[in-house]
Amino acid sequence: MVRMASLIIRPRARIFHGHDWVYQTEIERTIGDPEPGSVVTLKDRRQRPLGTAIYNPQSVICARRISRRRESLDLDFFARRLRRARNLRESLGIDLSLCRLVWCEADGLPGVVVDLYGPHAVIQTNTLAMDLARETISRALVAEIGVETVIERNDSPSRKSEGLPMRSGLLVGSDPGPVAIRPGGIEYHLNLLDGQKTGFYLDQVDNFEAVANLAKGARVLDCFCNQGGFALACAKAGAASVHGIDISTEAIEAARANATRNGLQATFEVANAFDTLRTLADSGEQPYDLIILDPPPFARARKNANEALRGYKEIHLRALKILAPGGILATYCCSHHITAEEYLAMAVDAAVDAKKTLRLAARHSQRADHPILPSIPETEYLKGFLFQSIAAW
Ligand code: SAH
Repeated sequence: MVRMASLIIRPRARIFHGHDWVYQTEIERTIGDPEPGSVVTLKDRRQRPLGTAIYNPQSVICARRISRRRESLDLDFFARRLRRARNLRESLGIDLSLCRLVWCEADGLPGVVVDLYGPHAVIQTNTLAMDLARETISRALVAEIGVETVIERNDSPSRKSEGLPMRSGLLVGSDPGPVAIRPGGIEYHLNLLDGQKTGFYLDQVDNFEAVANLAKGARVLDCFCNQGGFALACAKAGAASVHGIDISTEAIEAARANATRNGLQATFEVANAFDTLRTLADSGEQPYDLIILDPPPFARARKNANEALRGYKEIHLRALKILAPGGILATYCCSHHITAEEYLAMAVDAAVDAKKTLRLAARHSQRADHPILPSIPETEYLKGFLFQSIAAW
């Protein structure tokens, strides 16, 4: 058997506290000459084994543990990981025909995301070793899950930190064309090969329904609506009116087509939400009962957190100004670099400036098919708050 290279990890590194990542600065010494993208052994200072990890010296996170045991990235390894991922989702009652089957470290596959849309899998392999293993991962998906198509959407800018090229295309099967999905009984057509992101915001699917439950008879504004997930769920639930805005023409065209396809009444507009909210707030009117704010991550790094919070506050302040007394603000933060506490404090700040009082009616999170490991905080990113802007007493 080939002797695996080893990394000796410094005491007090995060791996001793339940995390699976090793930063460059946490390596005391390297034994052997590990290849970038290979599997290495991790050991503590006294040579006790800590498991096996994938290695990429180009990344600041230069090793990510894949197992407490000895493993190699072969078909059997991926088949076992996929079986566990499927079993977890089945035990949570998640419909496998529309779900995130693999969520990176939370499923023991660092950097790997697999979304299932019926028999079609869309994958991302955002670490060097997993990128090199993508053909094996695809074969395991066919063998274990029975998918017909595997599409890679390796077009996330975060790949730069691992030195990986952007790439998307078919790995298995042929172009499925438009794929129909029906979350919450609403039909969407997705273009998995070149739609935005992985095609659909699966993390929000349960939240569409939770918000829609409050929409009956309400005048709804869905800012950052993408292809209309919240807006259409609200229209279906009997909202009095629904308006969605997004800066992407492609997203708004899709949202309009989705409304027509489902016979739902909603209007959609291509606009910058910051501008629209400013204009509405300046009018001094309060034309909405339910406003959804689901912006993209304003902070892509911790150093941008303050700037991001200023942006978040601006849209919250304006949204609160145009919300009728007793109205609902459903707001989501998908930036991992902003904590729930910071986001909550920002919302309170905005409310103080808007002379409103907020009542926290519910907290939302990413759907359970994006599991969270508290020992690896990076597995959690979506924080949602459902506020009621209570009338002054
Ligand atoms: N709520 C959607 C997902 C929103 S993702 C859903 O669950 O399906 C964030 C969206 O914000 C993207 O569609 C992006 O096009 C849009 N966006 C980004 N910047 C914007 C801006 N300044 N104004 C309006 N939309 C914006």
